Amino acid sequence: MIIGVPKEIKNNENRVALTPAGVAEIKKHGHTVYMQANAGTGSGFSDADYTSAGATILPTIEAVYETAEMIIKVKEPIAQEYNLIREDQLLFTYFHFASSEELTHAMIARKAVCLAYETVEKADRSLPLLIPMSEVAGRMSIQEGAHYLEKPLKGRGILLGGVPGVPPARVLVLGGGVVGTQAAKMAAGLGAHVTIMDVSLARLRYLDDIMPPNVDTMMSNEYNIRERIKVSDLIIGAVLIPGAKAPHLITRDMLKIMRPGTVLVDVAVDQGGCIETCKPTTHENPTFIIDDVVHYCVANMPGAVPYTSTLALTNATLPYAIQLANKGWKKACQENRDLLSGLNVVKGEVVYKGVADAWGLSY
Ligand code: NAD
Repeated sequence: MIIGVPKEIKNNENRVALTPAGVAEIKKHGHTVYMQANAGTGSGFSDADYTSAGATILPTIEAVYETAEMIIKVKEPIAQEYNLIREDQLLFTYFHFASSEELTHAMIARKAVCLAYETVEKADRSLPLLIPMSEVAGRMSIQEGAHYLEKPLKGRGILLGGVPGVPPARVLVLGGGVVGTQAAKMAAGLGAHVTIMDVSLARLRYLDDIMPPNVDTMMSNEYNIRERIKVSDLIIGAVLIPGAKAPHLITRDMLKIMRPGTVLVDVAVDQGGCIETCKPTTHENPTFIIDDVVHYCVANMPGAVPYTSTLALTNATLPYAIQLANKGWKKACQENRDLLSGLNVVKGEVVYKGVADAWGLSY
């Protein structure tokens, strides 16, 4: 199969859908890979890295779309790419159709086969192509939180790990899923005192078993949250209720019981946020302050570490991309239910219920 990898053109997107290592793997299966010139630059991979792995560099995005049978990307196509997409072309990327009616209609009109990373689902209901980005965001939340706790950035001026003779900072993690687990591990590794709250007792039992001694667990409820935020220096919002907006676990009035300089990192901001006062921010302007409490609410945290994010994402996508290339999308989806659940729009038809429901389309 001929596989094309365009350069991402969405604002501030530096990830790329294939690494040179990925190209080399795909080549072993006898496929052809066309990379757009400079597609990997933002993630630290040069055109020479790709050619030595066996890819051919094409000068323009038009050339990539014109030749490829399967396009592998990171972000959904944006308006200027719509007309490049050809009938029957297979697109394997994040789409998030349920949040864009325009994109949904554009892909229906192009009659392409759209297989969305975010709905590829395993039998245990986990989402293997979303997990790597949650891992990145979870780990990064502590790095960012530690930074904004510094006094010049309006934080409390406390070092997460303390020093001998000075107690460490207290970190509260709301939600003990993928993001919360990675955040807790990082904070604990830096020596902070960490509390993870979740509503699932089974999850808290598991976390209690695997976490180091400076991490404790607590049932998530309003009473416990009110008690803990009074003494927490850094609070990470990491809850998810699948298919729904995040619940507001920290409400506006609660900011008053926090100490000045407390830092809130609401990773769940992409689902509306679990802190009422959070609104999405960008890497250019990541924080704002309300009631002396620092809010960090970047909706696309992994975008700041494209090298790590690209490697993490492609580790997860590559095995699926190889199956699609080896078998073609129809056979690959028949033989692997993970991939079948990734099909969203096929040749002008919406085939994913959530997308059809979102825009009142037939399914
Ligand atoms: P996950 O499903 O692995 O974990 C969510 C956890 O929240 C679960 O353990 C669940 O039991 C718990 N939970 C639900 N309701 C709760 C409540 N009331 N109190 C405490 N815990 C509760 O999800 P995840 O992969 O960890 O993702 C968390 C959030 O981070 C999602 O909204 C995701 O979209 C977001 N995210 C954001 C970025 C970013 O760049 N901002 C990147 C990746 C993921």
